[in-house]
Amino acid sequence: MSQDEKAPFLPYGRQIIDDDDIAAVVRVLRSDWLTTGPNVERFEADVCAFTGANHGVAVCNGTAALHAAVHALGIGPGDEVVVPPMTFAASANCVLYCGATPVFADVDAGTLLLDPAAAEAAITPRTRAIIAVDYAGQPCDWDALRALADRHGLALVADACHSIGGTDKGRKVGTLADVTVFSFHPVKHVTTGEGGMCLTDDAELAHRMRTFRNHGITTDARQREKAGGWFYEMTDLGFNYRITDIQCALGSSQLGKLPGWLARRRELAAAYDAALTGSSARPLARRADTEHAYHLYVVRHPVRDEAFKRLRGNGVGANVHYVPVHLHPYYRERLGTHEGLCPAAEAAYREILSLPLWPGMSRTDVGRVARLLD
Ligand SMILES: *Cc1c(COP(=O)(O)O)cnc(C)c1O
Repeated sequence: MSQDEKAPFLPYGRQIIDDDDIAAVVRVLRSDWLTTGPNVERFEADVCAFTGANHGVAVCNGTAALHAAVHALGIGPGDEVVVPPMTFAASANCVLYCGATPVFADVDAGTLLLDPAAAEAAITPRTRAIIAVDYAGQPCDWDALRALADRHGLALVADACHSIGGTDKGRKVGTLADVTVFSFHPVKHVTTGEGGMCLTDDAELAHRMRTFRNHGITTDARQREKAGGWFYEMTDLGFNYRITDIQCALGSSQLGKLPGWLARRRELAAAYDAALTGSSARPLARRADTEHAYHLYVVRHPVRDEAFKRLRGNGVGANVHYVPVHLHPYYRERLGTHEGLCPAAEAAYREILSLPLWPGMSRTDVGRVARLLD
């Protein structure tokens, strides 16, 4: 048995929780507010400070954040929203939640990011918005998408669940679209267990998203207590998409470590690049003038299924991100989507492999993975 076979299982991603994260959570458990208290506001302010966005609305997960964004933009039945297929289903599901129709536009074959030309070709008189995904952590061509959105009078949503800490031409993810959405699931850069956030510079959109997370009610319990009153009104149909103070304390504590974690992810990605040179696993193309946040390290492999089995058989938690959304049975049945609709995403799907990447990994781990891919 080789060393590799005895090595512990290496997941494709995982959280890092330190004692100070635990202490931050315990402090909240002993405090007055377990939910929608000072730690929610603080986490929102911390993420705004990190990204440069003006308003942050923390919610219970990234999917709820996408739903809040699409709702706040006033998108509803009869409307269409352009989305890429190479993403998690939630990026398109949020459009269906609002009664509107997602229209799939193919990705660039090299980067697997939404291709602005394909997005333009998908625009119809019913199109209201574009949701673009910073796949794997690499920012999209936001200038091109902004120009396209402006030309057609569309809103722009960034599903940035992979790309917190990324930049496009020096501008930070969080400021590049009308609404930017983050997830704080444990596999993402920063975790709150479950959690998400909507960022925007538009105070009106922020107000609508904030109301939406609390049943469509304009004030929350803490605001009413502060004001010494009881009256509240529901002005919109919202949900209980609130996140707890317990979770947000964890989020703020984690966020302080993000710069170091991003640097570590970039180092490990560079180590993969070097270790895979000349192997049959080819990393995805990178855009110039961007800083990749490396949620995922994705390669294309000509015999992906064999490579996947070899990695898993040797304790390496490789994964595939993603089954193109338009190929899921639900979408095929509901929208009539089919193979051939997005050829670049479909061809990539047969070859892509996400290799383990998280800040707690070592260079030795990278070498171990790379050797299995020769
Ligand atoms: C994780 C993720 C989501 C959903 O986030 P949750 O917090 O799991 O609801 C949406 N879009 C993308 C691209 C994601 O990676």
